[in-house]
Amino acid sequence: MAPRKLAAGNWKMNGNLAALDQIDELRAACPAPACDVLICPPAVLLHPMAARAGDMIAVGGQDCHANAAGAHTGDIAAAQLKDAGATYVILGHSERRADHGETDAQVAAKAAAAHAVGLIAIICVGETEAERDAGSTLDVIGTQLAGSIPAGADAANTVIAYEPVWAIGTGRTPTLDQIAEVHDFMRDRLTGHMAGAGDCSLLYGGSVKPGNAAEIFAIANVDGALVGGASLKAADFAGIVTAL
Ligand code: PGA
Repeated sequence: MAPRKLAAGNWKMNGNLAALDQIDELRAACPAPACDVLICPPAVLLHPMAARAGDMIAVGGQDCHANAAGAHTGDIAAAQLKDAGATYVILGHSERRADHGETDAQVAAKAAAAHAVGLIAIICVGETEAERDAGSTLDVIGTQLAGSIPAGADAANTVIAYEPVWAIGTGRTPTLDQIAEVHDFMRDRLTGHMAGAGDCSLLYGGSVKPGNAAEIFAIANVDGALVGGASLKAADFAGIVTAL
């Protein structure tokens, strides 16, 4: 098995029921994608989106709780995401690490909960600008990988997304060499952290657009993208899907 090619959209806290029309437009714009296509909408849109998406487009959550159920007001269990139609869940996105203080250990516990119900966990890692400027990018990524990937992770149930914090939503991207350096490092480091590391999909995320997708996808060990802003409009996201 080779790593699965995946174009993943992260709608973050954007969209409403009317925005589900984007799903029909996306299907029309890329009727036979050469990669897996995933949209992770806000949780309230999961079920109606899954109903609209059909087989061609997978849907996923943006977070889950580490516990299976219980007194956790405002949180969502992995099994509830699955029940709503999700097959994936994004975990440890830098916005959750920053806004909610999520630690590597919490991300690992959430990923274990996702795996327990059969969801594929997209585990996000990435350095801040200060960390890159200090020359500690690979140390940061290595630490995040070691701490955020639970026992039992394998190439079938886990995807890793490298998202430099300073590239998210800024229009700035690392150089192609910088992306290659981190992805090669991640491939190497995953050996020892998960079974079948060579087959694990490694996504790049951070200001991916139709105009830069092809050159990013041409980098060895880049198996797709996690896309924020450019996933909100079907025409933009279709340009990324068809580049993969
Ligand atoms: P962006 O976000 O594509 O808007 O930079 C990426 C992400 O946060 O996943």
